[in-house]
Amino acid sequence: MIKVGVLAYQGSVVEHIASLSKIEGVDPVEVRTAQELQSVSGLIIPGGESTTIGKLLNDFKLAGPLKEKIEAGLPVWGTCAGMILLAKEIVGESTSHLSVMDIQVKRNAYGSQLDSFCKKAYVPKIAPDEIPLVFIRAPWVESVGSDVEILLQEKGKIVAVEQANMLATSFHPELSDDLSFHRYFIHLIERNKK
Ligand code: GLN
Repeated sequence: MIKVGVLAYQGSVVEHIASLSKIEGVDPVEVRTAQELQSVSGLIIPGGESTTIGKLLNDFKLAGPLKEKIEAGLPVWGTCAGMILLAKEIVGESTSHLSVMDIQVKRNAYGSQLDSFCKKAYVPKIAPDEIPLVFIRAPWVESVGSDVEILLQEKGKIVAVEQANMLATSFHPELSDDLSFHRYFIHLIERNKK
């Protein structure tokens, strides 16, 4: 069994756990402490509120150990707020959180009118069929470093990226019943183990 952690302070934790538990060979676990982090082969940072999750990462003294682990190669996937937590730069803010992924993100980028929406798109690297995409007060990626691969653009805006052991999506695959992104993340973890 592959132990996959979900950072479990706030946000779409149970939804990620539910998606992971549908994949054979995967044992999903909640992670809140540095000790719990030691046991997992990969970590999902869920959607929610990046400011709140960032504060709790510090309160639980997990920010430092998690950053080190990611820099040492731990596979990590951030959805929505999780993408913001991974980013090295946040538009209009002087600080960032884990600052591990070479992307600049814009929070709540779709504005109040289009706050939340759902659509389908092909993401060729992830699945042969269209995937449902759920955007909730989502960020987009304004710019990426040269080592970052763009997996999907939506209306000209970058919404899914990969860099080495890191994956980030503006949208929430855990809020649909499509498991393609979760399966892809498991594939990244397996690749990392070899
Ligand atoms: N708007 C939230 C933030 O800035 C992210 C929303 C989400 O994760 N659904 O953290």
